[in-house]
Amino acid sequence: MLKRVRVWWSRHVLSARPAVIYTVALLLCLLLGWLLALLATIVQERTELQWRAESVARQLELQLTQGDMALLRIDAIPAEASCMASSAGLAAIVQSVPHARHALREWADGRRCSANPSRSEAVPAQPLSLQSLAGGGYGLVLAHHANGHSVLELNAVSLLEQLQTQSRGMRVGLVWGAQYLSLADGVAVLSVLPDSGLLYRQTVSGGLLDVVVQETWGTVFQRALLHRLDTMLLALAAGGVLGWALIRRKLARNTSSWEIAQGIRNREFFTHYQPIVTAELGECVGVEVLARWRHPVQGAVRSDLFIPAAEDAGMIVPLTRYLLRRVSKELKPVALPPGFMVGVNIAAEHLGMPDLVEDCKPLLAVLREKKAVLVLEVSERFPLPEHQVTHRVVQDLRQLGVKLALDDFGLGHADRNYLRRWGFDYLKVEKGYVSALGKDSFKANILDGLLSTSRQLGVQVIVKGVETQGQQNYLSVKGFQLLQGFYFGKPMTLNHFRQWLYSGITQDRSAAAAREAAAAAANSTR
Ligand code: C2E
Ligand code: CA
Repeated sequence: MLKRVRVWWSRHVLSARPAVIYTVALLLCLLLGWLLALLATIVQERTELQWRAESVARQLELQLTQGDMALLRIDAIPAEASCMASSAGLAAIVQSVPHARHALREWADGRRCSANPSRSEAVPAQPLSLQSLAGGGYGLVLAHHANGHSVLELNAVSLLEQLQTQSRGMRVGLVWGAQYLSLADGVAVLSVLPDSGLLYRQTVSGGLLDVVVQETWGTVFQRALLHRLDTMLLALAAGGVLGWALIRRKLARNTSSWEIAQGIRNREFFTHYQPIVTAELGECVGVEVLARWRHPVQGAVRSDLFIPAAEDAGMIVPLTRYLLRRVSKELKPVALPPGFMVGVNIAAEHLGMPDLVEDCKPLLAVLREKKAVLVLEVSERFPLPEHQVTHRVVQDLRQLGVKLALDDFGLGHADRNYLRRWGFDYLKVEKGYVSALGKDSFKANILDGLLSTSRQLGVQVIVKGVETQGQQNYLSVKGFQLLQGFYFGKPMTLNHFRQWLYSGITQDRSAAAAREAAAAAANSTR
C-alpha cells in the first residue's frame, strides 16, 4: 500500500512543473492555515457571543427593572386625581425612564388616563409583550395588573439600537414568543429566527423575553482571514517550505528518473546471466537474468543502487519491459536444453498490472520454441498486493506456462498461507542462509527445516549464494536440488554464458560417457 502511494506520488505529484508544485503547496498550506484560523475564530467568537449576549441581557434586565419601578410609580397615582394631573404625572414618568414613550393608568373603576390622550390601545394581558405600533415602530410593553392596570411602553427600536452599539457589530435581536425583532435588515418582526451563522440566546426577565446575539458566517470567515494574519503568514511560510522540499525531491527523483529513461533510450542497460545448477552434478538447468547499467559518465552502476532508484522513480516497469524485450532477442539464437529455466526479476508492482502478460509474450514465444520455461522472480521483501487484478495476472501467466519464484526467501514474512495463495513454484533462499552455514546454527537449522516444508507444499528450493565446494557438498547431502552462486558461475555476458554452458554440457556428456565406459569395463572384467 505504502509503495503504491509512493509510486502514485512520484508519478503524479513530483512530475509536475516547479511553478505548479509551488502554487499547489502554497494553496494547500494557505487553505489548511485558513481552516485552522477559522476553527480558532469560531471557538473565540462563540465565547465572545456568549459574553456579549450576557452583557446585553444584563443591560436589558436593568432597563426592565427601571420600567418595573416606573410601573410602581404609575400604580401609586391616586384614583381621585384629575385626569389632567394624572396625565402630567404619567408624562413625567415617561420622561424619566430611558426609551419610555408612553404610559397609561386604568383604575379599578374603569377610568383611564394616559400620557398621550390620542392613544387608545387596549391594555395587554401579559406582563411583558412586543407590540407593533399604529404610528410605526415597535413597543416593548410592561404591564401591572393590580388594583387596575398600569402600562409603560418602551421604544423597542431605540432600545435595540442602544444594545446594538455595545455588541461590536454583532446582530442583537429580541425574541418574544414566536416573534423575533432585529434591526439587521431594517426593523422587522420575523416569525422564524434566522439561523445562518453563529448565535447565542440568553433568557431575560424570568423567561418572558430572550436576547439573541448573532454573527453571520460572512463576518466569521472575514475575521478568520483578516484577524488571523499570524496564522496565515505561518501557513504561507509552511507552503514555501513544502514547495521547496517537493521541488528538491522532484529534482532528486528527476535525475534518476530522467537518467534511467535516457539509459533505456540509449541502450545503456544490458543483461548478465547467472547459472542455476543441480546440487548433485552441477549441471546447468537454468539461468537468472540480472540487469546491468553502463552509465556514459559514471561507468558501471551497481544494481543495488539503480534498481531501488528505478523503483522509487516509478521506472522499474519500463526498465523490466525493456529487459524482457532484450532477453527475448538475445536468447532467440541460443540453443537451450529442454526444460531450461529463465528467471527474470519482476517488481511486485508490475505483477499488479495486466500489461505484464503482454510484456512477457515475446520472450515466452522464443522460450516455447526451445521448450524452455520462463520463471518470474518476485521478492519476498515486498508482499504481493492482494488485489483481484494481481490474482488475475498470475492466473493468466500460469495459463501461458509461466512459473513463479519467491525471491529473497527468508528476508520477508511469507508464511505457508502466502505461499499457497500465490502458488509459488520455486523458493529462492536468501544468500545469507548459505554464508551462515558453520557460523550461525539458527539459520542453518532454518535451512534444514525448509526442505520438509517445501516438500509438503510441492515447491522446489533454489539456494542462492553458494561460493564453496563445501557448501555445495553440504547442501547436496542434505537433499537440496537446485543451487546458484559464484562457485558455479558469476553473472556473465550472454557470450560468456554460452561458452560456459556448452563447455559444461560437453563436459557433462564426456563425464557421463566416461562413467558409462568405466561401468561397461567393470562389467566385462566380472
Ligand atoms: P537477486 O535477485 O538476489 O540476484 C542475485 C544477486 O546475488 C546478484 O546481484 C548476484 O550477482 C548476486 N550473487 C549471485 N551469486 C552470488 C554468490 O555466490 N555470492 C554473492 N555474494 N553474491 C551472489 P546483483 O546482480 O547485484 O543483483 C542484486 C539484486 O538486484 C538482485 O538480487 C535483484 O533483486 C535485483 N535485480 C537485478 N536485476 C534486476 C532486474 O532486472 N529487475 C529487478 N526488478 N531487479 C533486479
Ligand atoms: Ca532474483
